Amino acid sequence: MKYISTRGNSPAQTFSEILLGGLAPDGGLYLPESYPQFSETDLAAMRAMNYRELAFTILSRFADDIPAADLRDIVNRTYTAEVYKHVRTGDHAQNADDITPTVKLEDNLFLLSLSNGPTLAFKDMAMQLLGNLFEYVLEKRGETINILGATSGDTGSAAEYAMRGKHGVKVFMLSPHGLMSEFQRAQMYSLPDANIFNIAIRGMFDDCQDIVKAVSNDAAFKAQYRIGAVNSINWARVAAQIVYYFKGYFEATRTNDESVAFAVPSGNFGNICAGHVARMMGLPVAKLVLATNENDVLDEFFRSGVYRPRATAETRVTSSPSMDISKASNFERFAFDLAGRDASVVRAWWGKVDAGGSFDLRGTPYMARLPEFRFASGTSSHADRLATIRATWEKYGVMIDPHTADGLKVALTRRESGVPMVVLETAQPVKFAETIREALGREPDRPRELEGIEALPQRVEVMEAEAGAVKAFIAARA
Ligand SMILES: *Cc1c(COP(=O)(O)O)cnc(C)c1O
Repeated sequence: MKYISTRGNSPAQTFSEILLGGLAPDGGLYLPESYPQFSETDLAAMRAMNYRELAFTILSRFADDIPAADLRDIVNRTYTAEVYKHVRTGDHAQNADDITPTVKLEDNLFLLSLSNGPTLAFKDMAMQLLGNLFEYVLEKRGETINILGATSGDTGSAAEYAMRGKHGVKVFMLSPHGLMSEFQRAQMYSLPDANIFNIAIRGMFDDCQDIVKAVSNDAAFKAQYRIGAVNSINWARVAAQIVYYFKGYFEATRTNDESVAFAVPSGNFGNICAGHVARMMGLPVAKLVLATNENDVLDEFFRSGVYRPRATAETRVTSSPSMDISKASNFERFAFDLAGRDASVVRAWWGKVDAGGSFDLRGTPYMARLPEFRFASGTSSHADRLATIRATWEKYGVMIDPHTADGLKVALTRRESGVPMVVLETAQPVKFAETIREALGREPDRPRELEGIEALPQRVEVMEAEAGAVKAFIAARA
């Protein structure tokens, strides 16, 4: 399996070759040159598999340059009941090996729990695999890497918990000083591992992001200190996320003649991109329901055919903060398929986007083809979130986080009779306690293992928003 760029001007590469990099050299995103296909016979066999077997079956089609025995070992170490143990108190009974248990709310309405991992957000599902893959590939090559990232919460903690204690990897994570929730700060800053460095920047998330860009644009520094990233455009993250769409499908159906709709709280289009790929591989998906919050750039596209990324300054700060995005970095992968995999079309679209503009598909053949991809979309507001959290608690006794509430709110407007709707649960409520208190007037459930983490000693370096200071810090420790 070779990987090609959505912009069409980079040489094809293997899975291991694209694993540690970010964008392709031509500025595009990597995708497999064709999607592996699962036949009816394959699906029948996959229905009986546990999460690890399923993950190996799917990932081995993508990571075919890693010897099967090694990949199986990596997958078996990644998806264990030990890692995905943060089942909420009072949660439904769980088979410890489920990894992504399904919660039935009512007939044909399910939550797919993706947030039982170390940081209680779905990003663990892919990031934990990335940690083990990075360590494996670096060791084979005798190389090391220094990961530099910026986070407003979920991504940074998922990356740190995935990379902690990994040989050959150090993590330098920038976060805005004083702007994350107390729980999120405790999660990141209390890690004792010597290869994890937390840097709190006096500024906003955008200042952190600008520093990462400035450091990465210094080619000499980047090469000398082997600076890498684990951002959401990494193909291995998308590949890892494909697995739970299959798992959710098998849980919500009895036979492979049925099809299922998935509702996905979306920001960077990474999670739902995996659902798109799963459908392209043969999973019977009736519909992919994309939910946004007040930052509705993606909903606007699927309703109108106009993709109009916003300026960063236009991004609204909401109570589902992990979906507060102005442009959806993974969207280009879907656009490549929509364009019939014609890279020259993608180049023309992103020529406009990269210049700060938009593109408009109305009246083009691409707009006519859009329904084939079975997307539906909708938005959710702060008031919707509160009402959905409250209704789900009252009706089903299940507490959901604000992002999942966005997904469920939009899902409920898109149900079709007889078609199971599976809403992806992307985080646990304890990460967003303030909104839970506002909705329910009580404290969120917290997994037992995480009682009292706010009281643990914390390690964090506070710095001014200056790339020079961050470079000096890295140079002294890399
Ligand atoms: C990252 C995140 C999202 C958005 O996922 P994308 O892959 O960026 O679309 C939704 N909910 C939570 C809790 C997240 O952390």
